[in-house]
Amino acid sequence: MPGGPGDLLRQVLQTGQCVSCGLCLDLCPYLQAAAERVVMIHHCGLEEGNCFRVCPRTPTDWEEMDRRVFGAPRADHVLGHYRQILFARATDPVVAAAGQYGGVVSALIIFALDGGKIRGAVLTAGAPGEMPQPALAVSPDEVLACAGSKYSAAPSLRALHEAARRGVEPVAVVGRPCQVLAVRKLQAVQGIEAHHLAGRKVALVVGLFCFWALEPGFHAFLRAVAGKARILKVDFSPESMLVRTDRGPLCKPVEEVRGFIRPACRECFDPTAEFADVAVGSTEYDEAWNTLVIRSKRGEALVRAALEAGAIEVRPYPPERLPALRAAVRSKKLRALEVQASRGESSYLLIPAGYRQALTGRDQR
Ligand SMILES: Cc1cc2nc3c(=O)[nH]c(=O)nc-3n(C[C@H](O)[C@H](O)[C@H](O)COP(=O)(O)OP(=O)(O)OC[C@H]3O[C@@H](n4cnc5c(N)ncnc54)[C@H](O)[C@@H]3O)c2cc1C
Repeated sequence: MPGGPGDLLRQVLQTGQCVSCGLCLDLCPYLQAAAERVVMIHHCGLEEGNCFRVCPRTPTDWEEMDRRVFGAPRADHVLGHYRQILFARATDPVVAAAGQYGGVVSALIIFALDGGKIRGAVLTAGAPGEMPQPALAVSPDEVLACAGSKYSAAPSLRALHEAARRGVEPVAVVGRPCQVLAVRKLQAVQGIEAHHLAGRKVALVVGLFCFWALEPGFHAFLRAVAGKARILKVDFSPESMLVRTDRGPLCKPVEEVRGFIRPACRECFDPTAEFADVAVGSTEYDEAWNTLVIRSKRGEALVRAALEAGAIEVRPYPPERLPALRAAVRSKKLRALEVQASRGESSYLLIPAGYRQALTGRDQR
């Protein structure tokens, strides 16, 4: 879909649709970020540009992306392509303890690094209550230092360009669903300039489940909630924000946080990172484990190798929990379509009519 910086400005930056994935930063010196806001400081005047092509909020042909990443149209319109859904966790207690839940993401990245499958990983660093930062991790310790969820829209993909500059390749990318889509769009760009070949060096894409990310103002709110206590970990249940501190746990109704949800996230159609090799989320009831969705052949090979090496362990996904996961994802997608329709602007989602119809019908699975 052709477009240039002017289109990016009009369709994404000026409409609050930017998800701060970070990929356009460093593709162009005129795009800068401040506090998780991307701004265009100068218009280069080009009619077409890679900033527009790789943005996850410029029009994206979902069907074409399915074919490009998985080689076929999807059979499942709620969860996208997947080979298997499991519960999983890291076996190393240090990794499990550092992780947000079971530490599967960190365990897979460390396993891939140790085995030489990747030489670095694009991650997100930062302590709770502080603004998270893009990070290029090249050692297991650096991966562990990035463990844990930071609930705002850190522009982590900036570190992909750092990897290209430093010659760190191949790399894994860990990101929110919008960041996964951005990486896939980068990989699809033909004839991209040599130093922007970053997308071609991505050997593994690990997606996080994400139903929303919060505005940077959330960090100050969190610090105020904690007061003088040191924040150790933040987590969300459907009803509450749970803050673990060195002075004991704190709990706030999730309603107090909803005002910080990034407007762009309300239009997000992909809460489970549909274009990732593997996608990882919570189990919604056992915080020592993760939900692990194996999507691609590459993801399947990695998980199999990590299992054989004993880096992770898995158990079957309880079939009685699948309807709840499907219902949550389906209702998020339908809400996103509604919000878009009410905004009346052109949508970034070029979803074939069949995809929409399949969502609005009765979920048979
Ligand atoms: C903004 C946000 C919202 C989320 N919402 C949900 C949800 O609604 N439901 C659900 O099941 N799961 C959600 N998750 C995913 C969940 O919090 C865990 O990240 C996931 O289950 C992996 O757990 P783990 O123990 O394997 O992670 P870990 O082993 O601790 O690894 C976490 C990884 O996440 C990366 N990361 C941390 N913060 C960010 C960020 N802001 N942007 C990009 N990457 C980041 C880190 O680099 C690290 O590699 C969300 C995550 C984020 C960042």
